Amino acid sequence: MKILVMNAGSSSQKSCLYEIGDLLPTQPPNPLWEAKIDWTHQPNVAELSVTTEGGKVKAELPASPRAQVINRLLGTLWTGATQVIANPQEVQVVGHRVVHGGKDYHTSIRITSEVKATIDRLSTLAPVHNPANLEGIEAIEQILGDVPQVAVFDTAFHAQMPDAAAIYPGSYDWIKKGIRRYGFHGTSHRYCAQRTADLMARDLSELKLITCHLGNGCSLAAIQNGRSIDTTMGFTPLDGLMMGTRSGSVDPSILIYLMRQEGYTADRLDQLLNKESGLLGISGVSNDMRAVMQAIESGNDDPSGEQRSYRARLALDIYLHRLRREIGGMLMSLGGLDALVFTGGVGENSALVRSAACEPLTWLGVKLDPAQTVSSEDALISAPDSAIPVWVIHTQEDWTIARDCWELLQA
Ligand code: ADP
Repeated sequence: MKILVMNAGSSSQKSCLYEIGDLLPTQPPNPLWEAKIDWTHQPNVAELSVTTEGGKVKAELPASPRAQVINRLLGTLWTGATQVIANPQEVQVVGHRVVHGGKDYHTSIRITSEVKATIDRLSTLAPVHNPANLEGIEAIEQILGDVPQVAVFDTAFHAQMPDAAAIYPGSYDWIKKGIRRYGFHGTSHRYCAQRTADLMARDLSELKLITCHLGNGCSLAAIQNGRSIDTTMGFTPLDGLMMGTRSGSVDPSILIYLMRQEGYTADRLDQLLNKESGLLGISGVSNDMRAVMQAIESGNDDPSGEQRSYRARLALDIYLHRLRREIGGMLMSLGGLDALVFTGGVGENSALVRSAACEPLTWLGVKLDPAQTVSSEDALISAPDSAIPVWVIHTQEDWTIARDCWELLQA
């Protein structure tokens, strides 16, 4: 079965094609074709890049309309140097990453007009992503006709969180208004939890896990009985941990203060908290953890370096403080722990962040292997005598979407 995965972001569109036979492979296979459109580098230009085993294509296109750009992207599947299928009809199902599925969708689902209407309605909660997802779904309808389409929601894995974890202690009316913790990165947390259980040769339903997704966006999930019972992101992805450009949780009174004292508007606050805060806001260097770490190391070399390295160090210290504090919170929500799991660009690659996150767990008997050898393979990084195993798992969101499509179609 040839499965097309569409992963639409605010300013990028990633896509890949998997082929799955009659049996699901135990390891994620490489996709046959991978493509990306990036709208961030040049005004009014969409940059297309496509890679297959046999070829590469790069092109610059007019930035809009989105459907036309997607049309060009998909055309590289069946024409030119990156051709991997003979015609569009070979695509048997299309899976879309959809950011917001509200509280009603617990699992991935075949897209119908009703599902489309729900995604549209939920655009008020995800104003950038849900409309982009919907445009992607409609572009596929135009280009590939009535091929089955599947929505895989970022929120679904958290949708059965207990009310005590999901409901904010504000006005009771908020519940009716849909103001609650939804949680995000669900596809990544779900994949990492299942993969960890498989590697431990245990049934996921009998494990208590904390999964730490540390990428540009960061969130933790507390997982019990194969379900997320608590998570750090909330009503939006802004809640919880410090991230690349997002602040994570801050005292809401700061916003009231800024509105009253400095005349901040809702749009200005939105920009500040989502785009100008976090590692970037505190360090003044970058939202990229590698650049922040370089600034810490090289800061003393030039006259302005002291301040640069001081701010970078402060940014890292706050990031680590909040990460440890929130891991503590997840631990208490679970009341036990069978494994701690790191994933995402920072979680998969930074031994420093992982060590710092685990250090306060020493009293529980958590011990990392000093070598912490991690390659592209998923790996156990705790010492053999650690009371709780610690894993690095390379997250596979696109593969999880493809697998969900395969399972839904088999059913
Ligand atoms: P996204 O959330 O956009 O998918 P990723 O999961 O790719 O992002 O994570 C990006 C983050 O991972 C960046 O902050 C980047 O600096 C960080 N990262 C990647 N490699 C390393 C590394 N070796 N050490 C520290 N941070 C790293």
